[in-house]
Amino acid sequence: MNNGRKRVLIIGGGFGGLFCARRLGGTDVEVTLLDRSAGHLFQPLLYQCATGTLSIGHISRPLREEFARHRNVTTLLGEAIDIDPESRRVTARRPDETTFTLDYDVLVVAAGMQQSYFGNEHFAQWAPGMKTIDDALNIRQRVFTAFEIAETLPPGPERDGWLTFAVAGGGPTGVELAGQIREMATRTLAHEFHSIEPEEARVLLFDGGERVLKTFCPELGETATESLQRLGVELHMGVRVTDVDRDGVTISPKDGGPDEQYPARTVLWTAGVEAVPFARHIAQVLGVKSDRSGRIDVGSDLSVAGYPEIFVIGDLAGREQLPGVAENAMQGGLHVASCIRRELAGKPRRPYRYRDLGSAAYIARGQAILQVGPVKLAGLLGWLAWGFVHIAFLTGVSNRISTVSTWLVTIARATRYHRAFMLGATGRPEQHYTWTEWDAPTPPPPNERSEADSG
Ligand SMILES: Cc1cc2nc3c(=O)[nH]c(=O)nc-3n(C[C@H](O)[C@H](O)[C@H](O)COP(=O)(O)OP(=O)(O)OC[C@H]3O[C@@H](n4cnc5c(N)ncnc54)[C@H](O)[C@@H]3O)c2cc1C
Repeated sequence: MNNGRKRVLIIGGGFGGLFCARRLGGTDVEVTLLDRSAGHLFQPLLYQCATGTLSIGHISRPLREEFARHRNVTTLLGEAIDIDPESRRVTARRPDETTFTLDYDVLVVAAGMQQSYFGNEHFAQWAPGMKTIDDALNIRQRVFTAFEIAETLPPGPERDGWLTFAVAGGGPTGVELAGQIREMATRTLAHEFHSIEPEEARVLLFDGGERVLKTFCPELGETATESLQRLGVELHMGVRVTDVDRDGVTISPKDGGPDEQYPARTVLWTAGVEAVPFARHIAQVLGVKSDRSGRIDVGSDLSVAGYPEIFVIGDLAGREQLPGVAENAMQGGLHVASCIRRELAGKPRRPYRYRDLGSAAYIARGQAILQVGPVKLAGLLGWLAWGFVHIAFLTGVSNRISTVSTWLVTIARATRYHRAFMLGATGRPEQHYTWTEWDAPTPPPPNERSEADSG
């Protein structure tokens, strides 16, 4: 206890941590919200940031600003790296590699998931995932640079490779990215180049299932498939991506048959997720079970067996098929805050009950799907509902207003205002002009270089 008040330490300021801290704001507890980044990120709109519609600022909000008015909530920047459950202490690392410790009476682990390459970590070198702001900016850089490089090449296989975009994973993120790249090529970039025809850019979507968007009902999945095909996305279902390298992807049909190779200089990975390293560490230290992806087993109140003071919420909570969606994280955060408040009032905890409030996926301008229980919307209606839901949950009033106005301009005109990307500065060897260090051809030795230069 601190001045007689319970110390609640929340690790992660994503949807789960944010909602838990908000509900505890103004109550008689000391809350510390620790996150390895300084802002809350609205992951569902990351693909719009990656494809130049929205800026980083639209989809993130500083946690410090979010909690400025809650005097009992302290936000700290740091990455949790260790836990001592006996002394109830967490060790965190600052960005300068130094460490500090935080003591708790109640610990809420809301650290989320990271991209998984299913043991093929070397794919990451060629195929960035999409979980963080860095990922979105990396994808933005690669996608727009691909068109720029193609513009400087003569027609032929090399140019075709730069104008081919492969997306692994046919869930909402893969579908949204694939649709956006085609839409960007056919609308935004269509009249900006002289040598290439951006409309001819190929977007290939690979997935192991029979159809895209497996979590939606078959009817909506079919509608999404038709919309993607109309946009020009090439769907390759029932296949596994078995290799990714500088030049493209290799796929294996799941029902047998020979491997196939698809040349593509831009490969994007949205195929799987796994627990962040700290979650795996906690499971080991506490001796609790976790599933293959690292989700930690939790009891009916979302606490860990043998440690009633430690809760796990959001994507990391492993129980009865709780889905990896924002709504589960938000409801989990509110539930844990309610448990803490009830205990302060001398009341017992209640079990957690997840209420499925539906899901939505964006396909293209004027086309989205939304499923809430028996209600199924597609096309323009689905799109309007999708927009409404996303704006309702975006953090910060100013972010909502600026996002809506940016959307309106993007709808009215083909322009995307947030296409800026970085390519390092001259004279700064630590900033690579080539976005993959390994992609740069090895410079020839000085004597050969002068020959090459003069020739
Ligand atoms: C591209 C994309 C699109 C999505 N679209 C949708 C959608 O349309 N609808 C939907 O419902 N869901 C969607 N999701 C899923 C949804 O975003 C997640 O289910 C939700 O974010 C989970 O919330 P969380 O609080 O568990 O974790 P997160 O929101 O991931 O937050 C985890 C936080 O923990 C921090 N962290 C991690 N490790 C540490 C550490 N060691 N120390 C300190 N801090 C740490 C991270 O910086 C992060 O801020 C999408 C996800 C992605 C990636």
